[in-house]
Amino acid sequence: MSTMDVAAAKFADLTFEDKLDRLAEVAVRVGLGLRAGQELIMSAPMEALPLVRRITEHAYKAGALLVTTLYGDDPTTLARFAYAPEASFDYAPKWLQDGIAEGFRNGAARLAIAGTNPALLAKQDPAKVARANVAASKAGKPAMELITRHTINWTIVAFATPEWAKLVFPNDREDVAVAKLWEAIFVASRVDADDPVAAWQEHGARLKQRVELLNAKRFSALHFEGPGTDLTVGLADDHLWAGGGTTAGNGVYCQPNIPTEECFTTPHKDRVNGTVRASKPLSHQGTLIENIAVRFEGGRIVEATATAGEDVLNRLISTDDGARRLGEVALVPHSSPIAQSGVLFWNTLFDENAASHIALGQAYSTCLIGGEKMAAEELAKLGANASLIHVDWMIGSGEMDVDGVAADGTSEPLMRKGEWV
Ligand code: ZN
Ligand code: ZN
Repeated sequence: MSTMDVAAAKFADLTFEDKLDRLAEVAVRVGLGLRAGQELIMSAPMEALPLVRRITEHAYKAGALLVTTLYGDDPTTLARFAYAPEASFDYAPKWLQDGIAEGFRNGAARLAIAGTNPALLAKQDPAKVARANVAASKAGKPAMELITRHTINWTIVAFATPEWAKLVFPNDREDVAVAKLWEAIFVASRVDADDPVAAWQEHGARLKQRVELLNAKRFSALHFEGPGTDLTVGLADDHLWAGGGTTAGNGVYCQPNIPTEECFTTPHKDRVNGTVRASKPLSHQGTLIENIAVRFEGGRIVEATATAGEDVLNRLISTDDGARRLGEVALVPHSSPIAQSGVLFWNTLFDENAASHIALGQAYSTCLIGGEKMAAEELAKLGANASLIHVDWMIGSGEMDVDGVAADGTSEPLMRKGEWV
């Protein structure tokens, strides 16, 4: 079936191969907005090969100069934790990351396929996991900065691997679980629309409208109130709301996350106060952290508890000073298709789009007026946080109220019971 035929057909009548092809087309045309002559650097779990092949096909049809894919493999990762020498956990291939950064600087786009088993490292020594993460973050910093600053066009899409599917649907047979997860991914990624590319254009425009409204308000803070939560999040001076696609520094319009439902901005790293309780469990680098409850004072976490994975949480927020502070605040209505699916994906790409959330760590400089061109000191002066980590966790629910607080202290309702007012 040609691309045009697939786009015009009803979703239920499509074969799995056709649906996968639609996801690939959305990834290249909507997610990346890949330009003719651009190089593409992709990372993917081994199992995602069928999607990698289709994305590669669409990329070359769009005029890609060269597509290079780096594969990850869960058993290979576990072999490292089982047999590698101590020194391995403080090491990361900087040469490889520097090469990727050079590729980005020379015009390459980046696509990541998510699908790694979210609980892969749950049984490994948390100290080793943390050390390996720190080493990887340090080595990957130059490449990651080109991504977080949106210097290049990039996106993430998902592939339903069996291990991931079994975690999401533990009571189903593996093949049933995989089929269910695929269906959820296709719907969340809006490839079930008659014309997915057009559906994404509409969705993006709606998010943009909300972003413009929020930007016009110039709130100085947001106030969240819900079960276990009474939190004031001061916003960075000159903050900008973003959502629904972005024009990268290289001039290419892209949708950095497939799916995406959020409007997000940069909090002030010193102006967050109060208590907050997570509304969903957080899967962090292979460990599940449940029932996170945190207290902020002057922007810093002064108390953090969790009923599971507390050790991992405390290691995470001890990564560096910025790991205890917020780098992102995002609003997502409870009526988002992902929230409505009722599925807990154990994957931030999906779960962060099911609920309003906050992120510990690195702020997006693009969420500040002129931020993409600012040096680290200038960003810090406006209140933007800096850290090796950026970890989103979900705080929104059908019971969350959010107010926008103006500079003069007056407030107005933004969300009631999880919905836009
Ligand atoms: Zn977010
Ligand atoms: Zn985030």
